[in-house]
Amino acid sequence: MLLNEMTWMEIRELLPQNPVVIQPVGSTEQHGPHLPLQTDILSAYEVARAAGERTGCLVAPPLPYVYSETWQTFPGTISFKPQTFMNCVSDIAESLVRGGFRKIFFLNGHNGNLAPLQTMIFQLLERYGREGEVLIGAGSYFMIAQEACAAIGDSFSDGTHANEFETSMVMQMRPDLVHVDRLGDWVYEPEFFLSFREGMTSVHKLPDSSRHIGVFGDPRRASQDKGRRYFEACVARVAEVVENFDPEYFGLGGGS
Ligand SMILES: [Zn+2]
Repeated sequence: MLLNEMTWMEIRELLPQNPVVIQPVGSTEQHGPHLPLQTDILSAYEVARAAGERTGCLVAPPLPYVYSETWQTFPGTISFKPQTFMNCVSDIAESLVRGGFRKIFFLNGHNGNLAPLQTMIFQLLERYGREGEVLIGAGSYFMIAQEACAAIGDSFSDGTHANEFETSMVMQMRPDLVHVDRLGDWVYEPEFFLSFREGMTSVHKLPDSSRHIGVFGDPRRASQDKGRRYFEACVARVAEVVENFDPEYFGLGGGS
């Protein structure tokens, strides 16, 4: 069910059932020469919608603006500051809780959101963590389903942006938006800007659109068939998470 297609009275009637609200968050940022800027939010929203249909969870309107600083030199990218993004998701959670919801899951489609989302969870813990009545979670649909996706194709081992996985996903959801003629006309030369290694995080420089086409990975391996299988794997895992969305599922039992 889509939250913004319902009336407030219909929503009020559902509250005694303690429904989960899935809030998709994504990005509006460059995705190479072959994918649209909406790739991350399209994926998060479509996976959320399918999981919502399967489980009866509510799906809130997608949030297309997030933290995308990495791709700022690529025209069209729109980024919030990390604090703006955290304030935004925190306000969404607070509005839903004030409206009577007790279970909120932020379904993320953009890697760069992970750290701000986790920090936001800590801030919400200070506000709602005393009584244990409210459960707020966040996760990336592609990480939640990582094991199943790795069995289908390259997944994220060869890159994490506009790669085989993301390209296949958009081929499945919106094939009209994929420029398949632009998949093979360049040589992939990885440049690393941000690294997570042996417990350390470091940043060297931001990607530059004058030297970089904005792809990490090899989209030439993408296909619509892989996209269909990736999509189904992601929907199945997200549906499982939201269907079992309670403290015990997260190993947080012990409360009443
Ligand atoms: Zn992406």
